[in-house]
Amino acid sequence: MKTVLITGASRGIGAACAKAFAENGYSPIINYNKSRSKAQELSEKIYKKFGIKPTLYGCDISDSAAVKKMFRDLGDIDVLVNNAGISQQKLFTDITDEDWKKMTSVNLDGVFYCSREAAMIMVRKKSGSIINISSMWGETGASCEVHYSASKAAVIGLTKALSKELGPSNIRVNCIAPGVIDTDMMKDFDEETRKTLRDEAPLQRLGTARDIADAAVFLASGKAGFITGQILGVNGGFVI
Ligand code: NAP
Repeated sequence: MKTVLITGASRGIGAACAKAFAENGYSPIINYNKSRSKAQELSEKIYKKFGIKPTLYGCDISDSAAVKKMFRDLGDIDVLVNNAGISQQKLFTDITDEDWKKMTSVNLDGVFYCSREAAMIMVRKKSGSIINISSMWGETGASCEVHYSASKAAVIGLTKALSKELGPSNIRVNCIAPGVIDTDMMKDFDEETRKTLRDEAPLQRLGTARDIADAAVFLASGKAGFITGQILGVNGGFVI
């Protein structure tokens, strides 16, 4: 059975990925940071529904040493989904050095640390798939989210460059750029803003975590065997 490590899988898109991969016969490793009990609940649900017992691993992915230890402890993985991320809305001139460092340390450094460890395992096996969760704001830029947009744009650059380096080792590296997805990340948006965002997408709805999880399962699968270095927009047509 193939194993998939999903970072930030205690909630939202990561949790949906854990379920979708289990449904498709993978053994999921659920990484969490603060939400241990949610990760445990998810693991129990997956076990009940699919008969697969996920591995739980608590680790702050912005901590390089902790990430190294996580990969040492896990030993082997086939697929990595770099999903963990944070967001913040602030005027550009109000962004502090700390806000900037926190944003880039989780959204970019974390992707680097996890991908580096995964690449070492995958290059040895000459197979593997890495899927990075960026954002449509990394493609277009979002007002009052300059640090978030910059971190997500960097993930797109990382995906393209890494896919070129790892392709000859039979490792595919792709990226999903979600649109507006209805998770905790949206909880500070009022109904009016949610309606505006809904109306702006041609498909006239917010995305679900499952929409992103289904795309991740596809990109990891053999059906996407000739796809690497790509940025897949899953956004209801918000960005075309
Ligand atoms: P969410 O509901 O807020 O969940 C975020 C997840 O990331 C949680 O499981 C959290 O774990 C984890 N996390 C945060 N910091 C971490 C750290 N330092 N180490 C390990 N895990 C950490 O967010 P979401 O909407 O599912 O977002 C998932 C990804 O999709 C993010 O990269 C986000 O930028 C991207 N995205 C989301 C949207 C959207 O509209 N929702 C749109 C575009 C892109 P704990 O709770 O355990 O700390």
